Amino acid sequence: MKVAMFSTRNYDIKHFDPLLAVQQESIQIKYFDTRLDIHTSQLAKGYDAVCAFVNDDLAGPVLTELASLGIKLIVMRCAGFNNINLAVSKKLGLTIMRVPAYSPEAVAEHAIALMMTLNRRIHKAYQRTRDANFSLDGLVGFNMFGKTMGVIGTGKIGLATMRILKGFGCEILAYDPYPSAQAIELGANYVSLTELFTRSDAITLHCPLTDDNYHLLNRESFAQMKEGVMIINTSRGALINAKDSIDALKSKKIGALGLDVYEEEDSLFFDDHSNEIITDDVFRRLSSCHNVIFTGHQAFLTREALTSIAQTTLDNLNCFASSKPNGNEVS
Ligand code: NAD
Repeated sequence: MKVAMFSTRNYDIKHFDPLLAVQQESIQIKYFDTRLDIHTSQLAKGYDAVCAFVNDDLAGPVLTELASLGIKLIVMRCAGFNNINLAVSKKLGLTIMRVPAYSPEAVAEHAIALMMTLNRRIHKAYQRTRDANFSLDGLVGFNMFGKTMGVIGTGKIGLATMRILKGFGCEILAYDPYPSAQAIELGANYVSLTELFTRSDAITLHCPLTDDNYHLLNRESFAQMKEGVMIINTSRGALINAKDSIDALKSKKIGALGLDVYEEEDSLFFDDHSNEIITDDVFRRLSSCHNVIFTGHQAFLTREALTSIAQTTLDNLNCFASSKPNGNEVS
């Protein structure tokens, strides 16, 4: 099977190549570093399958183009598939497969890393001590022990996050339309969104982006939260209305904001823009706040997760080639 892999980075190649070496050429992958979109989709000509990532464009026109080039299968190197027009892919007879779980702990640990960095002002201390400034003014944090944490989405990553929060001695409030027995066993209390907003000291998002929860955190939801609430988003950018978050930061309603994802990340993340003028004023405004930290969609980026992504992706390709469904098909 010949596969065109888009948005490839060195760390992908490093984790795919050793596994491909034992495939005895049953799978051949051509790595393209370019993002898949309507202008680059022609690169898939002559291939059987496309391998894509979170910010590749898999809207209707791109899918139509890929199908006309003879592509039968799209394998995602991620769990989320909000960037795929599933109605069009179904109509075109394309099979979509994904990596439903590679390492929930990788993402959960990154969410906690953002939380702790913001809480204990590690980002500010790092800058100061490099400049031999050992003043502690402005570095006061809070004990995690005894704080109330709101977890929205209690699937694999939400659960992994709750396990860590439990270790800190936090009280956990949870919201999910499908409560999890494991979360209840951990001691989480399922409450309404309003109660979670009003009682949480920090809120962390672990739900997928759907039509129903677009801009879940917005002007109205921020208004219900505690003064100085911390918000962490490692899920999908469009769960937060970023413009509204600027106002909430200015009024000190939000005390700290940790973002691994951003609604307009497609044109920014995964590439070096350090020699360019960033024209996204919302991003610029947010990244200029001392109590906002961005990471560029790297929550998944651990050796364990990358190995698991490569293994499952190759398994998906092999199963499709031998017509053996393995449960990773997106319906
Ligand atoms: P999962 O399917 O195991 O769990 C998602 C949970 O969210 C489910 O329990 C579901 O019932 C719940 N949910 C659905 N809609 C909801 C809503 N409106 N409000 C509250 N809960 C809702 O998924 P997961 O593996 O835990 O991943 C969660 C999300 O994390 C993914 O959808 C993806 O967007 C994101 N993610 C980010 C990275 C990263 O690198 N930043 C990596 C992997 C996944």
